[in-house]
Amino acid sequence: MVEVLNEFIEEPRIAYFSMEIGVKSDMPTYSGGLGVLAGDTIKSAADLKLPMVAVTHLTKKGYFKQEIDPFGRQIEKPEEWNPKQFMKQLRPKVTVNIENREVMVGAWLYVVNSETGGKVPIIFLDTDLNENNPGDRTITQFLYGGDSAYRFKQEMVLGIGGTRMLEELGFQIKKFHMNEGHSSLLTVELLRLFKKDIEEVWDERLVWNADKVRSLCVFTTHTPVEAGHDKFNYDLVSRLFTEPIPINVLKEFGGKDMLNMTMLALNLSNYVNGVAKKHGEVSKHMFPGYEIHAITNGVHSYTWTCDAMKRIFNKYFPGWANEPAMLVRVERIPEQELWDAHMEAKRHLIDYINRETKAGMNYDIFTIGFARRATAYKRADLLFKDVDRLIKIGEGKIQIVYGGKAHPRDEHGKQLIQKIHEIKENIKNRIKIVYIQNYNMDIALKLVSGVDVWLNNPLRPLEASGTSGMKASHNGVPNFSVLDGWWIEGHIEGHTGWSIGPLDVSADPDKDAEDLYSKLENIILPLFYNNKRGWIKVMQDAIGKNAYFFNSHRMMRRYVTEAYIR
Ligand SMILES: *Cc1c(COP(=O)(O)O)cnc(C)c1O
Repeated sequence: MVEVLNEFIEEPRIAYFSMEIGVKSDMPTYSGGLGVLAGDTIKSAADLKLPMVAVTHLTKKGYFKQEIDPFGRQIEKPEEWNPKQFMKQLRPKVTVNIENREVMVGAWLYVVNSETGGKVPIIFLDTDLNENNPGDRTITQFLYGGDSAYRFKQEMVLGIGGTRMLEELGFQIKKFHMNEGHSSLLTVELLRLFKKDIEEVWDERLVWNADKVRSLCVFTTHTPVEAGHDKFNYDLVSRLFTEPIPINVLKEFGGKDMLNMTMLALNLSNYVNGVAKKHGEVSKHMFPGYEIHAITNGVHSYTWTCDAMKRIFNKYFPGWANEPAMLVRVERIPEQELWDAHMEAKRHLIDYINRETKAGMNYDIFTIGFARRATAYKRADLLFKDVDRLIKIGEGKIQIVYGGKAHPRDEHGKQLIQKIHEIKENIKNRIKIVYIQNYNMDIALKLVSGVDVWLNNPLRPLEASGTSGMKASHNGVPNFSVLDGWWIEGHIEGHTGWSIGPLDVSADPDKDAEDLYSKLENIILPLFYNNKRGWIKVMQDAIGKNAYFFNSHRMMRRYVTEAYIR
């Protein structure tokens, strides 16, 4: 019995499994969108008093701390942090058999406490225990590090160890929600738990109660990028997976040739969804024969609204943070107050930038923001397709803020950072550009609230949802974005922001830059500089027509009614 858990184990809970969870910058147990979404999910569950418990890895070495050297090269430093500062180590331990060793798994408890009184415990799994050999001690330490053997061990600890830990701690679980396929080995543990007690069977498959497992499992898939779906070859799996479940069971549900974590989750979940309407459609094509729903992502409104905006939302919509739909009445906020709140956030950002980079940016210049993982399909360099044209349009009128980490093994992503760095140096006397180092949740909030427009130009249809644009909307910052992911649903041209390129995915992506330049030159800059009231109207619609809907409270209500209580 663990006393601190008493209040959480009386009522059956929804177990939310995620490889990464981003609660705050000081706890670097996330790398980007997936983890931040998990954190927002948990925060909304706490606000709404949903019975949830979350499970993830402790990742004591973090993802990495990014520095950019004078040549624009990304330097990766370990991001050490001390879990004791935020959470409590629990006594109970469980084991997972990996490579014929009993690997010991411990747990730490962090509780997300809401202003409403709601609470959601997060269980952080930790193999860094004296009982384990040095290699096994590192299993839960690095996020997305190591080779595929390391990754598979991590997924064994998360899915199998996590399920055992919940049981050991006394939790009763009524649904298992897999946030992406990394945790889908939990289905295998459930197959074992519900194995039928039959003496003699002519077909071994009959002992596995897959229907029971399905009735307990919910799976959310997060990316149309093929490499984003973990697959392991069975040589590796047979070597590492020494649990008492035959490999043929994995093959039965997870694929004949490779163990595909997405297929495993698809085959053993009763409810499967993509994270935006378009992504649901794309996923149906990727996985024909499966029923795939769509629940569009949202962001946690209170977390992603800057202090200045929070102050006016509190004044005009008391209770908005737990009922973000109230923001639909944004016109109640006097235009000048909305503008002043934006300028406060903008000054805060520009001061930060000027302190950090000595760039000498200006409060009154139109500021474009672009920050997200640096990887090829996000096309961070699209704005520089024709640098001369950009200078012609923007000299004296725009400044640009970039941020984002490249995965340590993503060479192309690192080259993108270097390319932006070079162009920044080349044109610094014409247009001011900065690349903010070490993009994290704190910097994200500064950026999405302090710029004037949020730029997003991925290659369609590869952005499953995207969430940073929703954060911008919460701060009255309009989106200027390719029609992909959530923006297909949130976009009303000239009202909530502007599109880049057509909706049709087969259209020539090389033409996107043309549309970007021409809208910037002919529509966006003139509106900003010559028609402040028109601009404020767009800010209002970003809040009243986007933020009111694209929040994680609305998202969680849908998970409850469509996935959890079926
Ligand atoms: C919100 C967020 C992301 C995700 O942004 P996308 O637009 O979905 O790419 C990534 N990293 C951090 C730190 C964030 O806060």
